[in-house]
Amino acid sequence: MVRTTPPLPLDVEALFPEVAAYRRDTVRLHPRAGNPGVRDSSLGGPLLWSRSVAWPHCDDDHPGIGCAPPPGSGAVPLVPVLQLFAGDVPELPFPAGTDVLQVLWCPFDHEAGYVPRPELYWRDSTAFDGELAVPPRPEGADEDYLPDPCVLHPERVSEYPSWDLPDDVAEALEERFAQVEEETGWSYWSHLAVADGVKAGGYPTWTQDPCWPDCAGCGRRMDHLLTVNSAEFDGESWRTWLPVEDTPDSGTIWDLPFEDRSRIQSPPGLTLGDMGGIYLFVCLHCPDRPFASHSDCS
Ligand SMILES: [Zn+2]
Ligand SMILES: [Zn+2]
Repeated sequence: MVRTTPPLPLDVEALFPEVAAYRRDTVRLHPRAGNPGVRDSSLGGPLLWSRSVAWPHCDDDHPGIGCAPPPGSGAVPLVPVLQLFAGDVPELPFPAGTDVLQVLWCPFDHEAGYVPRPELYWRDSTAFDGELAVPPRPEGADEDYLPDPCVLHPERVSEYPSWDLPDDVAEALEERFAQVEEETGWSYWSHLAVADGVKAGGYPTWTQDPCWPDCAGCGRRMDHLLTVNSAEFDGESWRTWLPVEDTPDSGTIWDLPFEDRSRIQSPPGLTLGDMGGIYLFVCLHCPDRPFASHSDCS
């Protein structure tokens, strides 16, 4: 089943022409519990991973507070988080000769932010020599950091910045935002700006002040590659970002039993910094695509 974000209830660019210049496209991935295979794009699914390529491990010094590996457990195998094929998300900046992006993370707390530490690999899906059948589940890892297998339903939408709207533009629009909200009940910030949920490209779904990393190689500001966050929507954003297919026939999403709602609101079962997220960035200027990550919490 596809997932379809309903059209915005207001014409944002007619009401607030100043934000038009900041419109971006993003790919909402819409993870939902499923049984992805190694050749499927997935969240928390099995990766197309050659036997001849060593599985990555984390041998960082974990802080020892929060979620830490058991003493003496050695290097921690990373766990699959995302696998995205060019056929499903061609918008990703695949380096020449690659057609699949794999994101894994170490499912223990890391400084700074006390969240999992991601690693990212661009691969050529034709250069495989057999796969590991079962991804590792490191002993002692918190379920909050181990995504449940999900299939993806990529959907392209346009969005506008909230936290990333330049201060002068936000100030110029402040009164009109308030007026429109009073007249219509729709908040620019909560309902009309940034698409919620796990996504590729566009604006990060920050829950705190933006923090855009600079590339360690060339010094330029990196681009947003992926947002992996704790929920597909919150108590406000559901009003515009809940897909049509997931909208109950009667009542609202909040009238569903908790378990039924969780299957739609947090399908991978991740809790990152309460309701925060982990954001991945990539440099489009350096050919080897250096990456960085940042996390925040709510
Ligand atoms: Zn680690
Ligand atoms: Zn660079």
